[in-house]
Amino acid sequence: MEYDEMRAMEKTHVCAMCGAPAVTVWDNENNCHQLACGKDKTHNGFKRATSAQTALQRGKMDDLLGPGAQTDLEKRAKETSTALKTLPQEDLGSHAKLTIMDIGAMTQFAESLGLNIHLNHACLYYGELYPTIDGYYYLNNKREKPFRIGTRPMTTEEKAVHMFEEGAHAWIAEAWLDGVKLPDTGIGYVAAADLELRSKKDPEKWRYPVVHDKPQRMAEKRAEWQLLRKLVSLEVKV
Ligand SMILES: [Zn+2]
Repeated sequence: MEYDEMRAMEKTHVCAMCGAPAVTVWDNENNCHQLACGKDKTHNGFKRATSAQTALQRGKMDDLLGPGAQTDLEKRAKETSTALKTLPQEDLGSHAKLTIMDIGAMTQFAESLGLNIHLNHACLYYGELYPTIDGYYYLNNKREKPFRIGTRPMTTEEKAVHMFEEGAHAWIAEAWLDGVKLPDTGIGYVAAADLELRSKKDPEKWRYPVVHDKPQRMAEKRAEWQLLRKLVSLEVKV
């Protein structure tokens, strides 16, 4: 990881083990800078600091507000006064407005997996139903022993192994269970060329505006999603 990337991650990431801020330190042994847990240097793995909204979507509200908070807020999200606002609005791929039939299909899909569409747990992507990253985190956090997920940019060596070009954004997601690192990883990649692609309809606009604005975040999300898909199996409950 480059020094600049570590300094940037201090602002967005925390220790995946204890939640302490991430800090860049000098590693005497290896003669280089390292990103480390601000509390305990033996900790490993970094995760994005989560907002209250994200904590709710991932089923971690009890950690913030105490026992029962998650269940209570989930119930409220389904109440009619707020339910319409929290419904998904469009197909994430095609951006087509969702019909009432789509919403019905999404609800059934989500509920069969123990998920909730009011918490952004499912999406329609070019007409296909998928659990979202938050949906997978929610299922993970319901496991008796949740996997601990950490993310970081790939090192120059790792990029070379995967034959990713110099300007590409490449992130890796790693997992631990009971403090033991698992062999499974997720890889997220945004090609340098994708950043500059123009919209076919309107050449004034970017073809992938979200990717153009936040390529690191997009690569990180792709890595997390790939790893969560590998680790968290979907069980149909009904
Ligand atoms: Zn820590």
